[in-house]
Amino acid sequence: MSSKVQFKNVFGLVALAGLVIAPISTPVQASQLKKATPIKLVCPVTGESIDSVADAAGSSVYKGKKYYFCCSGCKPLFDKNPSKYVKAKAAGKKN
Ligand SMILES: [Zn+2]
Repeated sequence: MSSKVQFKNVFGLVALAGLVIAPISTPVQASQLKKATPIKLVCPVTGESIDSVADAAGSSVYKGKKYYFCCSGCKPLFDKNPSKYVKAKAAGKKN
């Protein structure tokens, strides 16, 4: 009689293990969805945030990176001396 009970327990454990293993493979798909989050645009001249690329008054490429501006007056200022505005942002990190 006791051997019959043991067999039942083993079968139950196998079924339980299958349930535990199954959900582990799903979080991989969840992390892939996170990739779609839009990047936040910030005007390098004023530090003001821009809602979207369509909202930006202009853009410039400096050292392979694209910068967007909050108003038309910021683009000529950035183009004149881009390192001034890009450096100012990184300075706080360095010192
Ligand atoms: Zn501006």
